[in-house]
Amino acid sequence: MNGLLFGPGLAENGMPAQFEVNSDGLRFATSSLEVGHPSWRDIRIQKSGWDGSQLRLEWHGSAGAYALVVAEAAAVKSILAAGKLSISRAPGAAQTRAWASGIVVFTFVVPLLVIAAILWQHETIAGWLVGFISVEQEQKLGAHLFEGQKAKLKKIDGAPATMVRDIGARLTKGSAYRYEFYVSDDKTVNAYAMPGGYIVMHSGLLQLAASADEVAGVLAHEVAHVEKRHSLTAIARQLGLTAVLSLAFGDLGSIASAAGDLLSLKFSRDHEREADSVGLNRLVVAGMQPTAMATFFRKMAAQDKINLGFLSTHPSSEERFSAIDGAIGALPAAARGVPALDYDYAAIKAELPQDGATR
Ligand SMILES: [Zn+2]
Repeated sequence: MNGLLFGPGLAENGMPAQFEVNSDGLRFATSSLEVGHPSWRDIRIQKSGWDGSQLRLEWHGSAGAYALVVAEAAAVKSILAAGKLSISRAPGAAQTRAWASGIVVFTFVVPLLVIAAILWQHETIAGWLVGFISVEQEQKLGAHLFEGQKAKLKKIDGAPATMVRDIGARLTKGSAYRYEFYVSDDKTVNAYAMPGGYIVMHSGLLQLAASADEVAGVLAHEVAHVEKRHSLTAIARQLGLTAVLSLAFGDLGSIASAAGDLLSLKFSRDHEREADSVGLNRLVVAGMQPTAMATFFRKMAAQDKINLGFLSTHPSSEERFSAIDGAIGALPAAARGVPALDYDYAAIKAELPQDGATR
């Protein structure tokens, strides 16, 4: 019988070897080798080959470790019969089994988990799904949605808009999004961010603010909503899997047709907390005062006017504000002690439309 022999002093890709299968072990025809006369007791047998039809026999001869690979069907049969040994599971077979169970997991288990997650953890799964949407796609969706919103804006230009744009640019330096900042003549105290980086501040919010730094705090919070894709996630939650997938594949139609539903979107408490903390970091990185954020949010809450969502109100609580205080307290003193933004805020406010507004 023929096999391929591997061992000390032999060719790296094996040496053809003739052998006999006896009841007590193997006997090689080429006796000059230090292969020995291995008995079944000392031989380890494994199935090998891509389909497991070959055998690999391993033992220790006087010169070291040897291996014999046997491919002939007759030889395999007689070795198995004579050896009466249990065959160890070859690594190849184990891998095949791992593959098979992997396929089972992906075919049945993952979809079930996804369905379960959609039912029980809507926001988490929505967040995961939006990971499949590129920034470019999100930007397109945002532009599309903002197109409808823009018509309703009473855009204000001049110093207030310039200030909001400049602070916004400082807060979004290095971002993957192309931001656009707008000030709208609307006396309600509100600001919102749409997917892709469209941020709108109402004049009412600018009127309530006492400084450019307070405005920066709100802007940082809105920018964080964009960077963490909260609006996109909220849309995914609202409109469901189909819409998100069609968006991922470049179809805006299904989202656009459901755009009316977006008016009821709300951020979760988790997203608000995240926007606060990410926004705070943005302020620090941009070299702006972090303290004004908490001050202004409290002022808004006191007036029951906190409204910093995406076209909608969002949860606010003292717990949230104390979390901001805690984060500010944990900052290095240098980050807390930065000077106020250099704007004549009273003069900027004076440029806002005054007519008919009660503030
Ligand atoms: Zn918010």
